[in-house]
Amino acid sequence: MGLALRDAALQGAYPITALAIALASVLWVEIVRDLYHTLSHLWQPLYRLHVWHHKVFRRDLSVVSDTIYRQAHWYNDVPESLVMLVFSILPWGIVHTWEIAPQWTAGAGSLYTLTFLFGAIARGMGMPMVDELTDLTHRPGEFTSLPSKWFVNRPYHWRHHFDNQDAYFSGTLTLIDKLLGTALSLKNKRIAVTGASGTLGRALLTQLHLAEAKVTALTSSPKEISLHLSGEELPITTISWEIGKEAELIAQLDKIDILIINHGINVYGERDGDAIAKSYEINTFSTLRLIEAFYKTIKSDRDKIRKEIWVNTSEAEVNPALSPLYELSKRATGDIVTMSRLDAPCVIRKLILGPFKSKLNPVGVMSADWVAKQIVNLAKRDVRNIIVTINPLTYILFPIKEFCVANYFRLFSNPTNKH
Ligand SMILES: [Zn+2]
Ligand SMILES: [Zn+2]
Repeated sequence: MGLALRDAALQGAYPITALAIALASVLWVEIVRDLYHTLSHLWQPLYRLHVWHHKVFRRDLSVVSDTIYRQAHWYNDVPESLVMLVFSILPWGIVHTWEIAPQWTAGAGSLYTLTFLFGAIARGMGMPMVDELTDLTHRPGEFTSLPSKWFVNRPYHWRHHFDNQDAYFSGTLTLIDKLLGTALSLKNKRIAVTGASGTLGRALLTQLHLAEAKVTALTSSPKEISLHLSGEELPITTISWEIGKEAELIAQLDKIDILIINHGINVYGERDGDAIAKSYEINTFSTLRLIEAFYKTIKSDRDKIRKEIWVNTSEAEVNPALSPLYELSKRATGDIVTMSRLDAPCVIRKLILGPFKSKLNPVGVMSADWVAKQIVNLAKRDVRNIIVTINPLTYILFPIKEFCVANYFRLFSNPTNKH
């Protein structure tokens, strides 16, 4: 009886194990592909072969010449597929050694690789129509979507060719880029930070500068902002602006790739009409006006891919901050950002931060430098909701809240085509 039950259970598990082995073997060859690509950029002998792939395309992804296009497949795509094919033997070895049944599905990775190998050979031979069917990330034409999160699409891969060749290595799944921190390159990006004279503003500017971005400070203070780097003062481009005059910034925002909205006010225990108005005006409405002003600077489909907005909405979105008006105004901001990004013309990230030590919050436990470092670290992994806090509840509550609110808004409101 016991044995019969065990056999039944094993039989029930058989299709699931078969599928898991097949998927794992496909995932494995994809990992091999991306590591091979990464290595091609790091190791000169491989780069000499891979560089052909980079010679093929113009900025609009049209092909420079048919001869180079075909050659690039013999020098890059065919060797890449062969390397994947060789390594696809590994899953076979593992299921064989550990006697995991069924063993034949471990061949899925090899079969999957063969389709790429034949595709590459066909393109190398110049067979008509094969490139349209098999090479999906290099098709020319306008970009109709934003760089995607989990699967590499055309806008995602375009950045590997024309934004930074030392990032965006992934070919199909974005996993390796997420692990390597190459899913978003900040190098040479022009990044503006509001609330720049505050503790986090300065810390962010410093970390972004260290990540090789070109930083601009947006501040209401009349003083020029400078960063303190290993004992030296480094003055940076400073633009002074006032709440209510966000539209006047459009000309400057035009030259900015990433706008980080980080300014805010905390009125603590106040609750009079003035405190309410001030909290919403600075924390909520000013943020929304800046977002709208930045949207106006997104004109070409290349702007869509390069430009981003990061909004510091704080963990007050889901947790008490012991300051009711701070919570109310930050929650309103968070919800409206959730709504706005349903149809946003560029990527919008939220910064969900716990209490850090600053002028606004002298009893905060985290250091602003550490928080800023984590923000940059997670952004490079293309995390769209960046949570940095010591409160474990936020990691559970925020994703649930964001998922529910976003879907509620999606169901009960409609997109406009203004952007
Ligand atoms: Zn490419
Ligand atoms: Zn490359």
